[in-house]
This record gives sequence, C-alpha cells and structure tokens, in this order.
Amino acid sequence: MTTNAGPLVLPPGTTKETFAAFIHEAIRVVGPDNVTVIRSQNDLKDGTYENPIYTHDIYHVMDKDYMIASAVILPGSVPEVQEIVRLAGKFQIPLWPTSIGRNVGYGGAAPRLPGSVVLNLGARMNRVLEVSVEGAYALVEPGVTFAGLYDYLVKNNLQDKLWIDVPDIGGGSVLGNTLDRGVGYTPYGDHWMMHCGLEVVLPTGELMRTGMGALPQPPEKGRKHSGRVDEEPGNKCWQLFPYGFGPYNDGLFSQSNLGIVTKMGIWLMPNPGGYQSYLITLPREEDLQQAVDIIRPLRLQMVLQNVPTLRHILLDAGVLGRKKDYTSSNGPIEDAELDTICKKLNLGRWNFYGALYGPEPTRKALWSVIKTAFSAIKGAKFFFPEDIKEYCVLHVRDKTLQGIPTFDELKWVDWIPNGAHLFFSPISKVTGDDAMLQYSVTKKRVREAGFDFIGTFTVGLREMREYSSYEFLYMPLIPSLDHIVCIVFDRNDNDSKKRAHGLIKTLIADCAAHGWGEYRTHLALMDQIAETYNWNENILMRFNESIKNAIDPKGILAPGKSGVWPAAYPKSVYKL
Ligand code: ADP
Repeated sequence: MTTNAGPLVLPPGTTKETFAAFIHEAIRVVGPDNVTVIRSQNDLKDGTYENPIYTHDIYHVMDKDYMIASAVILPGSVPEVQEIVRLAGKFQIPLWPTSIGRNVGYGGAAPRLPGSVVLNLGARMNRVLEVSVEGAYALVEPGVTFAGLYDYLVKNNLQDKLWIDVPDIGGGSVLGNTLDRGVGYTPYGDHWMMHCGLEVVLPTGELMRTGMGALPQPPEKGRKHSGRVDEEPGNKCWQLFPYGFGPYNDGLFSQSNLGIVTKMGIWLMPNPGGYQSYLITLPREEDLQQAVDIIRPLRLQMVLQNVPTLRHILLDAGVLGRKKDYTSSNGPIEDAELDTICKKLNLGRWNFYGALYGPEPTRKALWSVIKTAFSAIKGAKFFFPEDIKEYCVLHVRDKTLQGIPTFDELKWVDWIPNGAHLFFSPISKVTGDDAMLQYSVTKKRVREAGFDFIGTFTVGLREMREYSSYEFLYMPLIPSLDHIVCIVFDRNDNDSKKRAHGLIKTLIADCAAHGWGEYRTHLALMDQIAETYNWNENILMRFNESIKNAIDPKGILAPGKSGVWPAAYPKSVYKL
C-alpha cells in the first residue's frame, strides 16, 4: 500500500506527514495487508450485521462521514498491540479499540473522535485459549464471538457439560460485549458479573493481568516457554477468583478508555440438568403494572432464575414481519391496530419470556409458583414452545435462554425500509409504578417523534432496563428493570435520522428529570449521558478524568469514550 496520500479525515492536531510516518511504522509492525487508510468517501460502504464495517457506524444517526476512522489496523498478537500503542504515544495518534464491532445500536466499530485509528482486534486475535470443565470457565481473545464459543463447545463435545450465555444476537464478541456491560438471558445474563480476570495493554504499552493473574504461575518442570510474557500460563486461580489482592481494578477497563483488553476469563454455566422455556401473554397495556409487581418478589427469591423479558407486542411483531405487513399507515401504530396485531399473532400487548432450569421436580415446583402468581392477571395465557406449531418468537427465545446463539432478532431492524436503530436503555426500580411511568414517558416521546414504540423490559436482580430504539422499545433485565427502547429509523433519510437523534436526546433529559439514567449508550449520546451522572459537582467525572490523565497522559486511548475526555483532547472542544 502507498502512504503518500492522506486520509479522508486526519486525527485532530496531526499533520499529513506525522500520520504517514505513523502508518509507515504500523505497517512495519503488522504488515501491509493489515493496515488500511480510509482515503475517500468511496471507502465508506455501509455494511451489514453479517459483514461488519470498521470505518464508520453501520447505523449512522449523525452524518455518515462524521465519526469515521482515518485508518484501520489489524494486530495479530499481544506484542503487536503493545507496539502499536507505543507508536500511537510517540506520534500522538488517537486509537479506538474494537473487538468484533457488532456493537450495533451503540455505534458499532466507529470511533467517538473523528480521525482516530480503529484497532480491529477481533480479525486476527480470535482464539479460545482455554475451556475448563472443572472450573466452568473459558479464557478468550477479543475475536471470539458468542457463536464461535458455542461452536467450540459443540466441536469439543462440551455442550452437554457447559452452557454459554448469549445476547439476543450471537455474532458479537464475548469480550467486547462484556466490556460494554451487555446482557444475556440465562442465569448468567449479567456478563460483566460473570467475567473473571483480564489481561490489558496499558496506554504505555505495558501488559498487566488483573486479579489472581498478577500472581505468577510457577513454571512447570520440563515445559518449554516461548519467553513472551503474554504467553506465560496464567495463575491457576486467575479465572476462579475475580478479586485477587488489593484494589479491585477490573471496573476501570469496562466502558472505559484506560486499556486494551487482550484476554478475558468468562464463567460458563454448568448444564443445569433440565430446561423448559415458556411464554406468558398479557392482554392489556396496563397489565405491565401488575406484571412487574408480580415479577419483583419472584426474581429476588430466584424463583425466576434467569433474566426474563417483558416484551412489547411490536418487538415480537418486528421479528415476525415488517410494518407494512400490519398497517398501511406510515405514522405510529394506534392502540386499536396494536390489538389487531396481537390477535393476528396470538400474542399479548406484553409478552413475558422466561425459562426454568434444573431437574424435572425442581422445574415443576417453580412453574407452579410462577403460574399461580401470573394467573392473578386477567386473561394471562401460558405457553411452552411445543404448544405453538408455527414459527414464533418463543421458538427463538427457547434457544437464546439456553445459550444457543441465534440471529432471528436482527429482523426487527427491517421494520421500516433502510432500517437502522438506536438503543435507549434506562434503568429503573422493579415496581409497577416505575415501569408504567417510564413506559408512558418514553412512549409519549417516541410517538411525538413519529416513531412506533418498540421495547422490552429486562429484569435484573434489583433493577429493570428499558431498551428503546427509534420505532422500537426494548428492555433488558437485572433486579433492576432495564428498559430497552429500540428506535428504528431510516438511515438513508436525513429527516428520520434527525428525529431519531432529537428523540433520544429528549428521552435522556426526560428520564434524568425522573432520576433514571442509562446503563449504556451510542457514541453520539455519551457526553450528554455522562453529564447526567453529576451528583456533588460532577465528582464522578472529575475522578474519571484524573485517572485518565494520570494513566494516559497523551490521551491516545479512545478519547471521549463514555464522555471521558483527556486533557490532550479537551471536552470543551470535542463534546457533542
Ligand atoms: P461486539 O462486537 O460484541 O458488540 P465490540 O467489539 O463492538 O463488541 O465492542 C464494544 C465496545 O467495547 C467497543 O466500542 C469498544 O469501546 C469496547 N471494546 C471492545 N473491545 C475492546 C478491547 N479489546 N479493549 C478495550 N475496549 C474494547
């Protein structure tokens, strides 16, 4: 490749010559085939989930060429990552690490700071380094996807012994999703809670292992070693005990810009000895209130063993069809039409998907408690997958809730033509009052912006999350309620993009006014959300900035990630 022409967008404060010198050195480290400079608009081809892109956000809600990379580099080993980080320091080039880049709805692989160099770690560093049946864990590199880890278990005849936990769609990086605090739906659904031990390249280029990994494993007699520190076997307890000794540092590397994670341990679920998924349909919109109050004690007592989801009818309708299959109108779907869709699909206005884990007597006992509790809701109906003949969402969730990766839920993004989406993900208490209030606040704004409400509530241990995306509201779970609103917009229509962007900004402000904050977000909203976490004169952000400037004085790692800007790239200049 040639290095004479500059990129379409240079990193801020860098000259063409300095950039070319950095690229020249980077090619020396990783080879010419593993460096691509983004030189023109023609290099910005929108990808798909199946073929992710590393140049810009696949679902760009801002101008397509705003958050773009100047170059994409594919390191093949830990020493190559270290060397690239040292070069970035030397030439003052901002880097944006990504593992697989399927962080769709949150920005994909795009960098927050335009002109950053994207490090695609997943392309060449994608080994499952270890699976321990006895310890029930895996040690993975950045490029191991959920589907890849599942295939590994199948190929090695381990799937009868160990289960993984998957998000709604199985193509993302186990490591990337966990660092971004993604969730799945088995009892191991809180991925960050289930990780154990990290290996991290620091902004100086040094390599660190956290937890028990900091204690060297005595060399085995007679076993030859390559001499590379990253290839030293980890401490025997690295993936067994997360905390080690002294300050617990792992949180510093989650949703952060303090290091590049090159290895991560993740706990796997021992086969529970039996499994049964189920669906409970709830006929009325207002049933949300009673359902959430029924869910809370059951989840706290772990009668509900996994992260269950309470899904709005349009989320399921989106998996089973497109908007035009249900209505001829372009505006938000009215309540009466929603009831018609429910009838057509034999679903409720809210649909609760859960699973029972364990031997038959355990499952029977749990099911009887759950069924009795939900029977208090008038018109609630109960289904097992075998009760429904035609393809349905329960058949998909049946796989997801036992850790089998699927791709079916990608379909709701095609709700409208050129569908793209943004997730809006506020957390709330698991109470009927909070759920109804959050639902009414978000639904009103989503409809005002001309979109359909598509969303889901996922129930964590003490909180709920609401997930929304433009035209979709979608919620994940931990006892908290995660509400996920899926805002589905047309990425080829500037008006639709503007409305989606305006909507999510309004939702963030509305929710903050009620004391609700988001647990994860798209790149374009990181500054605004970080500013809502401002208790006691922004002490949290001031603390994060102090650490950032101390650990990464040149500010080269992911400037702006989660709203944390280093002194080298001042927030006053770059924030949105
Ligand atoms: P996925 O493909 O699972 O959705 P990504 O690879 O897109 O995950 O990663 C999600 C986010 O996590 C990225 O945008 C980036 O900010 C961060 N990230 C991913 N991999 C790493 C890594 N190895 N080290 C540090 N941060 C990372």
